[in-house]
Amino acid sequence: MLNVRYISGFTGSFAVLLLTADQSLLLTDSRYQVQAAEESPHFKIVLVDSDWIKTAEEYIHILRLSRIGFESESTYHNTWSKLLEALGDTELAPTSGLVEKLRMVKDPGEQAALREAIRITDEACSHIVGILKPGMTEIDVAFEIDCFMKKHDAEKEAFDTIVASGPRSAMPHAKPTKRQIQEGEFIVLDFGAQWHGYTGDITRTILLGTPDEKHQEIFRIVHEAQTQAIAAIRPGARGGDIDAIARKYIADQGYGEYFGHGLGHGLGLEVHDGKTLSKNSDIILQAGMVTTVEPGIYLPGWGGVRIEDDVLVTKNGHEILTHSPLFAPDSSD
Ligand code: ZN
Ligand code: ZN
Repeated sequence: MLNVRYISGFTGSFAVLLLTADQSLLLTDSRYQVQAAEESPHFKIVLVDSDWIKTAEEYIHILRLSRIGFESESTYHNTWSKLLEALGDTELAPTSGLVEKLRMVKDPGEQAALREAIRITDEACSHIVGILKPGMTEIDVAFEIDCFMKKHDAEKEAFDTIVASGPRSAMPHAKPTKRQIQEGEFIVLDFGAQWHGYTGDITRTILLGTPDEKHQEIFRIVHEAQTQAIAAIRPGARGGDIDAIARKYIADQGYGEYFGHGLGHGLGLEVHDGKTLSKNSDIILQAGMVTTVEPGIYLPGWGGVRIEDDVLVTKNGHEILTHSPLFAPDSSD
């Protein structure tokens, strides 16, 4: 449905688009008659009775279409079989990733929505860091972040907020628990606001109290890996090469085996809006793409550090869209 939303603007739960060179049809049911007309003014709204395949078949014949592309990755086998039967001589051509490819490059309106989602995310970050104290549980912290974002115009969380403290911060995608946060340990906070469908995504790793040398060392390495990778982001750069910059730096410091996940993902209508920066990614960056850059080092039994920022590829290089400070452990009190 996100591809339908991207193409048509329609945000309801059921619609099928039928697009030709000069016709744009949106098939939906009566629940959405008014909403579809409002949200998709450039589409002819066609109401479906009970079986959209029947309605589609009628229009396919009226429009004399002989070959139809369909999104093979989101069409159930059952639907495909019914279409095949209903359409007779009309050829059904599977397509893959067509709309997803368009979605990778954000137009100015989408960039504005992303900036707003990220602005709310940044505000939530400064709010939570301001009130974080020993004794709060991970769940308390996550709840506070989520509430703040919703009170400040977010539609919802872009994904389940991650709060992972102490040894649990060694799990990149930990769920918040009743564990109380303490001084002298890392706390990984990873969250994002959704605004008009578009998602922010930030990670900060915080330490209350006094860090030891190891905390400072690991934090410095992750930050340096991120800085080097971001510096290389520009149109024409290959995603896999950017990933390799951060990966090589972390490996050279002796922690290669503790950075397992990809360096970054696209951001847009989904929090994982396309693969951008990962091992062997052949994606060539273009102006308008938005990617996260989020290296991490996770030491089992000890803890982990991840730092994540959102970066727009611009004509001449890049712009970092997240503005939250780092809260580096060596500058804390
Ligand atoms: Zn994140
Ligand atoms: Zn992310």
